[in-house]
Amino acid sequence: MISIVGGGLSGLYTAYLLQQKGLAFQLFEARERFGGRIKGLPVGDSSHLELGPSWFWPHQARMQQLCAELNLPYFEQYVAGDALYQLPGRPMQRFQGAGTMTSYRLAGGLTKLDAALVEQLPRHALHANAPVAHVQYQQGWQLTVNGVTHNSDALILAAPPRALINKTNLAEQLSPKLVDRLASTPTWMAAQAKFVAHYSQPFWRQAGLAGDAFSRTGPMVEIHDASAHEQAGFALFGFIGLDAQQRKSIAPKQLEQACLKQFADLFGPQALQPTTFALQDWQHSPYTCTQADINQATEHPNCPVHEFTDELASLNLYFAGSEMANEEAGYLEGALAAAEGVVLRI
Ligand SMILES: Cc1cc2nc3c(=O)[nH]c(=O)nc-3n(C[C@H](O)[C@H](O)[C@H](O)COP(=O)(O)OP(=O)(O)OC[C@H]3O[C@@H](n4cnc5c(N)ncnc54)[C@H](O)[C@@H]3O)c2cc1C
Repeated sequence: MISIVGGGLSGLYTAYLLQQKGLAFQLFEARERFGGRIKGLPVGDSSHLELGPSWFWPHQARMQQLCAELNLPYFEQYVAGDALYQLPGRPMQRFQGAGTMTSYRLAGGLTKLDAALVEQLPRHALHANAPVAHVQYQQGWQLTVNGVTHNSDALILAAPPRALINKTNLAEQLSPKLVDRLASTPTWMAAQAKFVAHYSQPFWRQAGLAGDAFSRTGPMVEIHDASAHEQAGFALFGFIGLDAQQRKSIAPKQLEQACLKQFADLFGPQALQPTTFALQDWQHSPYTCTQADINQATEHPNCPVHEFTDELASLNLYFAGSEMANEEAGYLEGALAAAEGVVLRI
């Protein structure tokens, strides 16, 4: 039996690959939902707006391949039209050619990818609301979940290393050097916040605007079209420019209203009439974000563990999770790459 800790994209894809190899597994997910950092705001007809990741890119072959395999259509990020630049005390600047880099979005939202993977997996092997609090290696692994002990031969950790160290006693089972390596690996985008608003009409597109805006006034600093489909589920989103500490001193409702006002300043008064909206502040998600991620400026993760090969082999322990990938670490593609690497080795 193999245990997987974490039911984000990496854990689910690990399970999907193990199943293809005919290997038995149990997956434990702390939250009440699968998906991890992939999280959606529902906007009718089973579509979602992205509250976590939005994009993958043409060079990321695994994401494209998996979407094709699961029959999930994707589309190019909407960039037709002009972009805006907002500076304090200055008139709005409008310029041509918003996006130069092609990026892809999953039609209906990335939660479709999690749902499609879950659909392929045996229900009895997937456990939500199942935080792994305690792990111990003694001729195999013993995992304590909600007070119950589960035994397994191998352990695959498919979660951000900092979150694992914070929420379990994993550090007790590892050498101090490996613990240091894991604890110093930042979790990509962990302390970010996004504001998303859904509209019945794409009024910015109708005005020749791409929905792209860059702002020095805030509260959002980078804004894009966030529509759930190429021509439906119209939406805008922005990354909040205030850091995690600064956001703690503002009531979420006040920040939401400031974001709606900023959309209106940029794109017109219709922006004040969203059908629904949400502010997602990831700093409040302890299975994603730790104090170290709040204290440290966002950095790309890089956590090589080849020098710990013997230690990991002696424990039958494997790291999936995007932060632990050898390529595209931190990204959705990295989550798939890390899973693939583990399943090749196990
Ligand atoms: C705001 C934001 C924007 C982003 N934008 C992009 C983007 O545009 N493109 C891109 O490629 N990437 C983006 N990312 C990164 C992307 O979300 C991640 O690379 C990807 O989702 C990581 O998947 P994962 O499965 O490795 O980790 P996670 O999604 O973090 O999943 C780990 C899972 O493990 C669970 N877990 C943790 N500890 C335990 C425990 N003790 N017991 C049980 N379960 C546990 C967690 O609850 C979680 O579900 C973004 C992230 C954020 C937050």
